Amino acid sequence: MFFLIFKLFYVITLFIGGDIISNIFTKFFFILFILVLFVSIFFTPIIKGENISDFLENGEILYVNPNGFVWPIPGYTRISSPFGKRNSPTAGASSYHYGCDIPAPQGTKLIAIADGEITFLNFLGAGGYTLTLSFENYKVSYCHIDPNFLVSVGDFVKQGQVIALVGPKYVYGVPGNFYKDENGNPTNGATTGSHLHIGFRINNQYQNPMNFF
Ligand SMILES: [Zn+2]
Repeated sequence: MFFLIFKLFYVITLFIGGDIISNIFTKFFFILFILVLFVSIFFTPIIKGENISDFLENGEILYVNPNGFVWPIPGYTRISSPFGKRNSPTAGASSYHYGCDIPAPQGTKLIAIADGEITFLNFLGAGGYTLTLSFENYKVSYCHIDPNFLVSVGDFVKQGQVIALVGPKYVYGVPGNFYKDENGNPTNGATTGSHLHIGFRINNQYQNPMNFF
């Protein structure tokens, strides 16, 4: 199809401008064709979602890993506390860590690692304000998030969509929250500072999130 148009163009320009102009035009369109081909092959997976292109505007490229997931907190990759056995960093925090912690300032965007459904969104003990994203046999929890929720339970979200923000260290007026800092200020679950705690469950068994990234 393209070559038919290409040929037609060549004939028209040959008719109007003669051989030299015709050659310039055909070369120009050939280069354009190669460029379009290159962009469509290499960039289509990145620009498939509107929220993903938002990130591109901010200069960040979302990398879909071999498991099909994107990193939940663009711009922040340092793990302050890995999955597994640990010494409790704060009273009430588990000595076995069922997820990993990624420090980031309050308000940092958290994105859906995959397409899925929001199945839980509430205050949840040590996790503080918590969101759960479910798909297939996975349940992925984002803990210590901002209480000003961006989505609702039952929403279907797309990979790369901003679904929550990193929450504040302190939350006030939450009934039943007994987590506090050393001065008695109520904290957003068992936390010593703003961070994302991400937890992975497969068939309700906790797994190390880093096995999937
Ligand atoms: Zn944690």
